[in-house]
Amino acid sequence: MRAAVYHGPKDVRIEEVADPRIEQPGDVIIKMITTSMCGSDLYLYNGEVEELVAPGHTTLGHEICGEVVEVGSAVNRFAVGDRVTFPYSVSCGRCQSCRVGQTAHCLTSGKAIYGFGTAFGDLGGSHAEYVRSPLADDHLEHVPDSLPDDVVPFLSCNLPAAAIAVHAAEIELTDTVAVVGCGATGLLALDLIRRHTNATVYAFDPVPFRRKRAEVLGAVPMDASADAVDTSIQAVLDATHGLGVHKVVEFAGRGDAFDLSVALARPGGTISGGGVYLERDHPVSLFDMHFKNLRLVLNGFANAHTAQRHAMQLIENNVIDPTAVLTHRVSLSELPSAAEQFTTREEGFLKALITP
Ligand SMILES: [Zn+2]
Ligand SMILES: [Zn+2]
Repeated sequence: MRAAVYHGPKDVRIEEVADPRIEQPGDVIIKMITTSMCGSDLYLYNGEVEELVAPGHTTLGHEICGEVVEVGSAVNRFAVGDRVTFPYSVSCGRCQSCRVGQTAHCLTSGKAIYGFGTAFGDLGGSHAEYVRSPLADDHLEHVPDSLPDDVVPFLSCNLPAAAIAVHAAEIELTDTVAVVGCGATGLLALDLIRRHTNATVYAFDPVPFRRKRAEVLGAVPMDASADAVDTSIQAVLDATHGLGVHKVVEFAGRGDAFDLSVALARPGGTISGGGVYLERDHPVSLFDMHFKNLRLVLNGFANAHTAQRHAMQLIENNVIDPTAVLTHRVSLSELPSAAEQFTTREEGFLKALITP
C-alpha cells in the first residue's frame, strides 16, 4: 500500500510499504476513506521530535474515517464493511487509567498513538491506504450514517480536544475569554466558546487570515505576532479595568503562547491548555502564576475517546460544522506539499482533508 513515511525534517514521502495485517486477535484493518493533517503532525514533520520517530519507518496521521476490511478472531463489535473512526490514541477501557477517564494514558496500549512514532507504540498512521487498529472493540467507534466522510476525521482529535478544553475552562455566561492560537482546533473551540458566554471573546493569533476567521465567528481579533503582542495584551488590560480575562483557552502549544496566556488571565482566572507542549526547557514564571492565583488545567494530551460521543452529537445537532475550518482537499500523493503549506502557515491554509 501507499503511505506517508517520515524520512527526516520536512521530508515525508509517499511510498510503497507493506500492507498492515492482523497481528493480534483483537485487531481490525481499516481502509482509509478520508484522513486529515493535525497541527501536532507538524512536530513530527518538522523533525522537532526526532527522538520519537524512526526515519524510513514511521508513518504519520491519527485522524480518520475508514471502512473495516478485515477483523481479528476476537473482535465482536465490528464487521467487514462497517464505517468507523478512532480516537487518536489506543485505549482498553479497563485499566486503571482508562477507568478514570485518562484514556490517553492507557496502561494496556502503553499510550499508543496512531502515526506518532516509536515512542508511542510504533503504530502505523492514517496517512496511508490501510491502518491496523489494535484493541478495536475497546476504542474504535461506529460512525452514524448522518455524518458525511468529510467531518469524521475531526472526531479523532480536533473536535474532542476543543470540547474538552472548553469544558475544562468552566466558562460562565458573563466571562470574558481569550482564545490563544486560532488554527483549526482553536477556531472550533472559539465557535463553542461563543455559545458559553455573551461577554467579549478575544482571539489571538499571529496570522492575519486566522484572525479574520476568528472575527467571522464573533471574536475580537488580536495580533499575537512578536512585535505586536505587547500592544495587544495592553489593549485587553485596558478593556478589562486592568484585570485581564476570566478564562484563557490555549491552543498554540508553544512556550510564548503559554506566557501570553499567563499575561492575559486575570487574578483568579483559568488557563485551559489544549495545545500540545513539547518544549522541555521553556521557563515558566511561577511568580506570575502565583500572584494571580491562577487555575491551570492542561488537557493537550487529550483523552479524546471520552469526548468522542459528545463531539458526534455536536455535529449531529448542528451545534458546530467542523468543515468550516477545512480549507484544502488533497490526495495522499499531494500530502507532502500540503504539509509544507501547513507548516509555513500559508495564507488561506487551516486544515487539509486527505483522500487516498
Ligand atoms: Zn491531532
Ligand atoms: Zn486502558
